[in-house]
Amino acid sequence: MPQAIAQRQEATVSHRINFWGRPSGDSTASWDYKSQKWVVKRPDDGSPALHRTVRCETCNKELHYTIHSVEATHRRHARRRVGAYAGLVILLVSLVSLITLEDAGPVRIALTVAGILVGAVFGWVSALAAAHDTGVTGHGAGWPGATKHAVGLIEPRGEELPELVCALCGHREEFPWGSQYRKGFVQKQYQAAVSRLENHICPEA
Ligand SMILES: [Zn+2]
Ligand SMILES: [Zn+2]
Repeated sequence: MPQAIAQRQEATVSHRINFWGRPSGDSTASWDYKSQKWVVKRPDDGSPALHRTVRCETCNKELHYTIHSVEATHRRHARRRVGAYAGLVILLVSLVSLITLEDAGPVRIALTVAGILVGAVFGWVSALAAAHDTGVTGHGAGWPGATKHAVGLIEPRGEELPELVCALCGHREEFPWGSQYRKGFVQKQYQAAVSRLENHICPEA
């Protein structure tokens, strides 16, 4: 699922600690990242992309990023989704061709197999890229996979869920939020957090 994109948005810049992925689970590898906060300010829609430099706190390297507007980022998502569908179409056409092959020559067989591979890889990479694209590019930030430096967006909190902080003592109630949750779940958790805040034992009251 593509991430929510806002004009001003908190993000993290992360430095990968280990070069080789540690095995985690059956067929996946994981990498440890050390993260620092970064506030991404995007240009207005229709304005050219901005160039920003961040110094990595872990390795002291200067990282040059290009920041695209909200609109441009959505266009990038759309283009990559088109790429994903194109890959799917190539894959399906090649599969149909494979099924209907009759006494075909080696050239047609080779073309069909190549079509399946190209369609699968192209479609898969495009779909992953659409899901991971943050509208911040440079140093592999816009691409999935374990790059040395990664940029992650912190999803903007919706207007309807203001922070729950006690005005007297500064006590804060946390609640889950973000598009990965069902809306009903978030609302319920939020209401529970509101009543926790109302009932907290306030040292300043
Ligand atoms: Zn670094
Ligand atoms: Zn309080």
